[in-house]
Amino acid sequence: NEHPRPAARVGQTALRAKSVIAVGSGKGGVGKSSVAASIALALRHLGSKVGLMDADVYGPSLPHLLGLGGRPAMSEDKRIEPITLRDDAAGRPMPVMSMGFLVEPDQAVIWRGPMLHGSINQFLGMTDWGELDYLIIDMPPGTGDVALTLSQAVPLSGSVVVCTPQEVALLDAVKAIAMYKKVNIPILGIVENMSGFLCPDNGKTYDIFGSGGAREKAEELKVPFLGGLPIDIELRKACDDGLLPALIRDNETARRPFERIAQSL
Ligand code: ADP
Repeated sequence: NEHPRPAARVGQTALRAKSVIAVGSGKGGVGKSSVAASIALALRHLGSKVGLMDADVYGPSLPHLLGLGGRPAMSEDKRIEPITLRDDAAGRPMPVMSMGFLVEPDQAVIWRGPMLHGSINQFLGMTDWGELDYLIIDMPPGTGDVALTLSQAVPLSGSVVVCTPQEVALLDAVKAIAMYKKVNIPILGIVENMSGFLCPDNGKTYDIFGSGGAREKAEELKVPFLGGLPIDIELRKACDDGLLPALIRDNETARRPFERIAQSL
C-alpha cells in the first residue's frame, strides 16, 4: 500500500499516543484483562503516561479490577472525559475508558457489529486521553471485527496475546495470532499466564495447567515470547476486590513480572 496511513485521527479528535498496544487472547478466562491492566499499571509505575481502554465491550471488567466507577462526563465540544485513576504514589493519573462506565453492572450489552464499531471509534476518538506514551487496549477475546476496526481506526504498534499453557488455550491463541497478522497488526509477543503455581506453604511450583507450551508455540510461530506469569492468589484477590492498582504499587513480587513484560514493549 503506497498511501501512508493517516495519523491517528479517529472520531472527532486525534489520539496522541506514542504507542498503542492491543492485548488479546484466543478465548476468555485466560487472564487477558488482568494482564492488560497490570501491564498498564507497571508501565505507569516505570514512569510512563498510560491510558487504558476496555474494548472488551461485551464483558468489560476493567472498572471492577481497578476499583473504578462513575460516569464519564461529556464536555460541550462532545469530548468524553475518561474516568481517571489517581494515586500519586503509584505514578501519573491514568485515564481509563470502558463500556462498564456506561451501562449498569447487571445489564448485558447486546450489540451488533456496526454499533460495536461505532463505540470503539467513539471511545478512541472522542475520549480526551491527553498526551500518552502508551494506550493499552483490552481486546475482546477471540477472533473478530474489533481488531479490524481498530487496525483501520488507529495505527496500532502491535498486539500482545495472552494464553494459558493448556493445549486448548494455545490452539485458540494461534488462531488469535493469525487473525492479528491478517489485519496487519504486528505481534509483539505471547504471554503465558497461569504458568505454574508457586505454593506459599512449601515453596514448590506446581504446573497445574502445564507450562512452557507458549514458549514453544512462540518459537514455532517465530514471534517473541514475553514471559510467563505464575498463578498468584494475591493477584486473584486483588482483581476480585478492585485492588489491582494497590497490588502493583505495593507488592514488588507481583509487579516484577509485569514490569519485565512492560520493558520489552
Ligand atoms: P479474561 O480477560 O481473559 O477473561 P480475566 O483477566 O478476567 O480473564 O481473569 C479471569 C480470572 O482469573 C479473574 O478472576 C482473575 O483474577 C484470575 N486470574 C488471571 N490471571 C491470574 C493469575 N496469574 N493468577 C491467579 N488468578 C488469575
